[in-house]
Amino acid sequence: ARKFFVGGNWKCNGTAEEVKKIVNTLNEAQVPSQDVVEVVVSPPYVFLPLVKSTLRSDFHVAAQNCWVKKGGAFTGEVSAEMLVNLDIPWVILGHSERRALLNESNEVDRVSNWSKVVIAYEPVWAIGTGKVASPAQAQEVHDELRKWLAKNVSADVAATTRIIYGGSVNGGNCKELGGQTDVDGFLVGGASLKPEFIDIIKAAE
Ligand code: 13P
Repeated sequence: ARKFFVGGNWKCNGTAEEVKKIVNTLNEAQVPSQDVVEVVVSPPYVFLPLVKSTLRSDFHVAAQNCWVKKGGAFTGEVSAEMLVNLDIPWVILGHSERRALLNESNEVDRVSNWSKVVIAYEPVWAIGTGKVASPAQAQEVHDELRKWLAKNVSADVAATTRIIYGGSVNGGNCKELGGQTDVDGFLVGGASLKPEFIDIIKAAE
């Protein structure tokens, strides 16, 4: 079985004070256990150490991007090795905002180890618009993605890889979306900055 996965992508938002408030809210929340749901929040780089050191230990932390190569003379970039060094287990790669605004392409994130990958399907028209995909639309695309994995990678990878939905997920629409066979969780933007994120985590139950 694929464990439900709820990611909070904070994007380029927040001050240190706001981050502390969000962390406090998450730390106090009653949510299903780690056996039922994997929760990962992704603050901007500068807040990673603060969040890592103050967030409850059953929630995990992700960076929002990392450099495609090893470290070196690449001003402004952060390498995957540095994330590992800080014990940051996850990173968001190839987000559509980076593709649209920063010219990232499929070439920069080829996958070699699928056991470490969660795929997020985010229709661009649903990101930050309040227009959410219908549960049937999400299910149809997730099913196609799983078939693609079966054909192009392996049946095992298709059966075990989590495919999560992103795009205007909120406390009101998460339950029905999460109930679809091939929707294994969410990547939440705007609502991940609000207490509502806790309701979305609870959709795992
Ligand atoms: P919203 O939830 O704000 O639509 O953002 C979705 C997203 O891009 C998450 O990565």
